[in-house]
Amino acid sequence: MSTLRFKALSETFNRKPVPVSEPERRSEIFGKNVFNEHAMRQYLTKDSFKSVMEAVVKGTKIDRNIADHISTGMKEWAINKGATHYTHWFQPLTGATAEKHDAFFETVEGGLAIEKFGGGQLVQQEPDASSFPNGGIRNTFEARGYTAWDPTSPAFIYGTTLCIPTVFVAYTGEALDNKTPLLRALQSVDQAATAVVKYFDKNVTKVIATLGWEQEYFLIDKSLAAARPDISLAGRTLLGHSSAKGQQLDDHYFGSIPVRVLNFMRDLETECMLLGIPVKTRHNEVAPNQFELAPIFEEANLAVDHNSLLMDVMDKVADRHNFKVLFHEKPFAGINGSGKHNNWSLATDTGTNLLSPGSTPMKNLQFLTFFINTIKAVNDYEELLRASIASASNDHRLGANEAPPAIISVFIGTQLTEVLNELEKVTDGKLSPEEKTELKLNVVGKIPEIMLDNTDRNRTSPFAFTGNKFELRAVGSTANCANPMTVLNAVVAKQLIDFKAEVDALIAEKDMKKDDAIFNVLREYIKQSKRIRFEGDGYGQAWEKEAKKRGLSNYKTTPQALKAKVSKKAIALYEELGIMNKVEIEARHEIEVEEYAKRIQIEGRVLGDIARNHVIPTAIRYQNILIENVRGLKEIYGTSFKKVAAEQMHLIESISEHIEKINKGINQMIDERKKANTLEDMEKRAFAYCDKVKPYFDVIRYHCDKLELLVDDELWPLAKYRELLFTK
Ligand code: ADP
Ligand code: MG
Repeated sequence: MSTLRFKALSETFNRKPVPVSEPERRSEIFGKNVFNEHAMRQYLTKDSFKSVMEAVVKGTKIDRNIADHISTGMKEWAINKGATHYTHWFQPLTGATAEKHDAFFETVEGGLAIEKFGGGQLVQQEPDASSFPNGGIRNTFEARGYTAWDPTSPAFIYGTTLCIPTVFVAYTGEALDNKTPLLRALQSVDQAATAVVKYFDKNVTKVIATLGWEQEYFLIDKSLAAARPDISLAGRTLLGHSSAKGQQLDDHYFGSIPVRVLNFMRDLETECMLLGIPVKTRHNEVAPNQFELAPIFEEANLAVDHNSLLMDVMDKVADRHNFKVLFHEKPFAGINGSGKHNNWSLATDTGTNLLSPGSTPMKNLQFLTFFINTIKAVNDYEELLRASIASASNDHRLGANEAPPAIISVFIGTQLTEVLNELEKVTDGKLSPEEKTELKLNVVGKIPEIMLDNTDRNRTSPFAFTGNKFELRAVGSTANCANPMTVLNAVVAKQLIDFKAEVDALIAEKDMKKDDAIFNVLREYIKQSKRIRFEGDGYGQAWEKEAKKRGLSNYKTTPQALKAKVSKKAIALYEELGIMNKVEIEARHEIEVEEYAKRIQIEGRVLGDIARNHVIPTAIRYQNILIENVRGLKEIYGTSFKKVAAEQMHLIESISEHIEKINKGINQMIDERKKANTLEDMEKRAFAYCDKVKPYFDVIRYHCDKLELLVDDELWPLAKYRELLFTK
């Protein structure tokens, strides 16, 4: 066994759980490190407090004088809690979070120092951000970028640093981050949904989108992970023969959580509590060493920030417990990968969940309005939604052998399907009193009862209605939720705007009653969006065929899927809603295709290195042992040695064959990489990496994995699947 593998394994076997101390009650520490309403009331003047709250609720601007007061209060609070530095905390287009710490400390005359943090530093900063991806925006405009405070996501202390959530934009106004378009989409959906809710409830003045994510991940022992260059550099295994035991016994899902892991989770949850991330659920997932964590849902922008923060906290806490967290969508071949379900709904400021049926027919009509409009929005923009979850790593789930498929469809369950079928029969034009009574009593009126025993669950659907929310299951576990949330909220906003215009037109021009008009428009939507509804098995070949007939897209790779992001339709949508302009949209596409090409490039290099520097030399060493053995047998048995040495000689040959194929594969892959790198057009380069380079991964891997089975375990240098997956 290689020294590295031996060392890693022995370290793993000797691990003891790292003890954690838990607070008496979690509720007492919840949000302790967050500059939330409670802290603001303590540290801000009445005016300052009011001004922040107005900015949060109404989106009003904060006056510079007031900002000075706020920063003073915030600084006092932070310093009292031991903070020494502050940072604008933002989400550039790398998908991760970015921070640059500055000390509160400042020198003054007389060799003295003070702690300083002014309104200017709170509101706006200019990080030297020339190395963040910008898709050409900042080159074109010669503009610098700046970060600006987002008061809707409260500041928090992480470690000893006060973190201020901000947007990141170019001086010319173009968004350079994930948060800016999200905030704009959320504002659009608020306006559009509030206008529609007013048909049913005049008291509503604001609608917020809610998001509850579910984060799946793998936990691997730190030493074992470090002994694998592929895990260290690409976040996943690029080779490795499957373990004899995988997940076939279903004995991990919801199983008892190993002590080491549980201690990690408890420690993590304590950190989350302090940071105000309302984590609630933890359990084992299907694959060995795979787990999930889910919070109570929150307003979407805050939930997105919390997920980004969580991923960072997880890395750090895992390290304390000698684990490495793998967020990759498919770290191991042959067993389940990880996703990040995005549970989504709309809620009013009066406390109503718009995707939850109510107690009266009118409330249910409101539910149906939002329910059907969402389905219609997904139907009309399925390609854009697919694009929003596309990434090199998520390609291993979508369209590969894992749920959900790359085809976007909506699952609603048999009973709601029946309701929609009934509604589809609504008379064209004004409804008779009998028809209305029938509808109210037997269709719309029955919904609450239906929902009570809504037990339908379809695990293969990418977008499923689950009783009081939709669940977008296609999001990848590494993703920043801002991307899919921007798209989903934008398309629903656009849909609600169109809906209102149509209903108002029927009322004004056809003299219809409001209910009649709503029923009429919804009926048409049900018909128009039928193709997106699918209740069957999303894995099967049959669905691929059927979806094709229905005209639904089925983009299996990221470069293909991303095209929808720069389609005329997408640009029109974003420009109409003021979410992004053409320059911003195209810049993002450029960044994403480039990132795709780079990721595949890195994986190709790592795979080539491991195959050449680890696998082949090990195979040769073992082959030499065999050769030595055959030589010995020849000495003993003379000319009849072939009979006793047959197996060994066969092995020697097999090893040579595999080595030859690996070398050939690597050479061809390198040739393709060289060709791809000459392509100046980033989209073309991404396609070349996808279609020409990536296919060699499977070929090379196949032969490496065969060698893993042939070669003496003692010589094999890389931690094996069984060790990575079954060490607790
Ligand atoms: P599962 O889908 O695995 O059965 P749960 O029922 O525990 O999981 O819920 C999943 C997630 O749905 C949680 O994060 C929860 O906060 C979220 N959720 C529940 N209601 C809503 C809602 N109205 N809006 C957004 N998310 C919600
Ligand atoms: Mg779920």
